[in-house]
Amino acid sequence: MGKVFVTRKVPDIGINILQDAGHEVVVSEKDGVLTREELINALKADSYDAVFCLLTDKIDGEVYDAAPSAKIWANYAVGFGNLDLDDAKERGITVTNTPGVLTDTVAEYAVALMLAVAKRIPEADRFTKELKYQGWAPELLLGADLKGKTLGIVGAGRIGSGVASRAYYGLGMKIIYYDVNPNKQLEKELRATFKANVDDIMKEADVISVHVPLLDSTKHLISRARLQMMKSTAFLINTSRGPVVDENALVELLRDGTVRAAGLDVFEEEPRLAHGLPELSNVVVTPHIASATEETRGKMSEMAATNIKEFLAGNKPPNPVT
Ligand code: NAD
Repeated sequence: MGKVFVTRKVPDIGINILQDAGHEVVVSEKDGVLTREELINALKADSYDAVFCLLTDKIDGEVYDAAPSAKIWANYAVGFGNLDLDDAKERGITVTNTPGVLTDTVAEYAVALMLAVAKRIPEADRFTKELKYQGWAPELLLGADLKGKTLGIVGAGRIGSGVASRAYYGLGMKIIYYDVNPNKQLEKELRATFKANVDDIMKEADVISVHVPLLDSTKHLISRARLQMMKSTAFLINTSRGPVVDENALVELLRDGTVRAAGLDVFEEEPRLAHGLPELSNVVVTPHIASATEETRGKMSEMAATNIKEFLAGNKPPNPVT
């Protein structure tokens, strides 16, 4: 039977699956992310057959080499930008992720951020708790309606499509989208319009919601120049990965009002926020919690563990990253 290292405490369901399959499971005892050095040392301390890792672990050749017998690295996330896939391939390592189980949760969250920004809910909450509310007023904390407005989806995969569907059916929004692969189903079901380049989304949408994976081709896809193309009334939602948006440029443009407002669950240098971001009132920020529900985190743990269990049993894991 195999020995599995888990880089941080995760919901028990995954650990139980591995133990029930007869594997020995060692969970990092640190209350937090292991530093690169701590991770390498922990891996070298024993001989592991599999690693259950998190999106907060930055994994490249040197880290893989610290566990030479581990030929499967199961990421507890749908994203996989934290693992160097070329280095994995060179070493014959299989990387897996947890697609699908967090689609609905993250799509709900992106819509929640859209509404929070459009209706200025966090700002209103602070205002009220600070006892600034002096009575109803016609122009107090005016927000924006979403019905009839255009939602621009950047990356119409699982989550992007889930957001589009909720916005179309639930909020009565029109959908335009950009993706390297046109999504015919979205066009048919939601009467979504495909745009051949991201600039058209930036110029035409009232709300832009970003759902591409972090790849070389998507780093700063939402660049300063593109942010400057946004309508003066439009706002940006990012629940994908921080580096997809030029965060420093966004802060400047939010500050000078070029971008009206934004909702961000992810940041370029997590957990650090770009200089000046926390002081802005026209941005809603949350600590990368779009998939953080009890149900979903449990399913992710189950899925990552199943990938390891199947691999160690000599089978193809259900969710290899290709
Ligand atoms: P997915 O693979 O189903 O969809 C991604 C879409 O992006 C695909 O349709 C793909 O064709 C498109 N795409 C890829 N490169 C592109 C490019 N250069 N330009 C335009 N489109 C491009 O993935 P998903 O399950 O919808 O997840 C999307 C991302 O959301 C993940 O990669 C992850 O980084 C992020 N995510 C964040 C959280 C969170 O907690 N905030 C949770 C889950 C996922």
